[in-house]
Amino acid sequence: RSITVDLGERSYPIYIGSGLLRSIGERCIEAGFAQRSPLLVVSDTEVAPRYLEQVEASLRSSGYTVVSHVIQAGEASKSLAVYEEVITTAIQGGLDRSSAVLALGGGVVGDLAGFVAASYMRGIGFMQIPTTILAHDSSVGGKVAVNHPLAKNMLGAFYQPSMVLYDLDTLATLPPRQVASGLAEVVKHGLILDREFAYWCREHADELLALDPEALGYALERGCAIKADVIGGDEREHGQRAILNLGHTIGHAIEAVGGYGTFLHGEAIAIGMAGSALLAAKLGRDRQIYEDTVSMLAALSLPTRLPSKYSGKELMEAMMHDKKFKEGRMTFIVPEAIGEVSIISDVQASDVTEVIAQLKKEGS
Ligand code: NAD
Ligand code: ZN
Repeated sequence: RSITVDLGERSYPIYIGSGLLRSIGERCIEAGFAQRSPLLVVSDTEVAPRYLEQVEASLRSSGYTVVSHVIQAGEASKSLAVYEEVITTAIQGGLDRSSAVLALGGGVVGDLAGFVAASYMRGIGFMQIPTTILAHDSSVGGKVAVNHPLAKNMLGAFYQPSMVLYDLDTLATLPPRQVASGLAEVVKHGLILDREFAYWCREHADELLALDPEALGYALERGCAIKADVIGGDEREHGQRAILNLGHTIGHAIEAVGGYGTFLHGEAIAIGMAGSALLAAKLGRDRQIYEDTVSMLAALSLPTRLPSKYSGKELMEAMMHDKKFKEGRMTFIVPEAIGEVSIISDVQASDVTEVIAQLKKEGS
């Protein structure tokens, strides 16, 4: 399967399938990476032991010199300190202007390695090799970043890869909670733009959770295609790209208040998407949107209820920090129906407070 992200001169292909890691050397040639310049593969301590050797072997057999850097798995590695370590490896490895960085891992590796690629010598080649389901989202679209202790994703760039190579075989070793978390972003893409696909995800939830190759291949292709469509129309989030943030205002607040890692990203935005649907009902939309959203998320083993220990006040404060508040009003992505959302910029903070209280009572 292959999809094209249409961004004029910066257009690139997404390949999705089985056994793709074996052909990565050839894909780098196709992407135009010079064989005389070293490649840097960035991976983490969970992914590298499983897949790095294969990748290095394929690259070497295509005539590349390879330098690898393995970071500690986890969000804490998306830091300036680790960024500097990777840059050190790049300099010591002799990477030059014609070199490229390959991100072999989930969203953490992708965001960090992407920021290295965007900034090393003012930008060198970049390829995404996602190994999580969630990374179908993070590897497409060109947002790359590291965190600051005071704020997530505070330092970053828009930097598109030359190619996304999605080998479905790598997903077999993902822990079940990571599978469900990634599927939250998949169903999000259906909820914002593709009604049929959203219901399809509910119908095929068990196959998706079991990583059935046919179902998963289709779901990731649809998810990537919807994301590619949205960013093709608005690469730098001046307008429409914001619909991709469905569930993320509340979700980010849950992550921030709970401490990163209490809920996985996908779990937090699942609760956030349930919240957006409750908000929709409050604003006069059909209550059925909420019922259907919750049933889809529950089918995918995702949470839709906020544990009562979360303080509404702290969550509201976190949202204000998230720069989405202006004079007691905030911007929310609100479902109009399953598969259709609108950007509403004058949502009252008091309505959001009520939604948060409701989120503790309802759902599964
Ligand atoms: P992650 O990269 O931390 O991966 C999750 C866990 O799974 C890690 O422990 C990792 O080591 C492990 N893992 C990865 N692949 C594996 C495999 N094949 N087998 C076994 N274990 C594996 O997290 P993630 O959920 O992929 O991504 C989350 C990050 O993505 C966050 O930092 C978030 O900010 C970022 N993100 C970015 C964008 C964007 O547009 N750039 C969008 C969404 C999320
Ligand atoms: Zn997300």
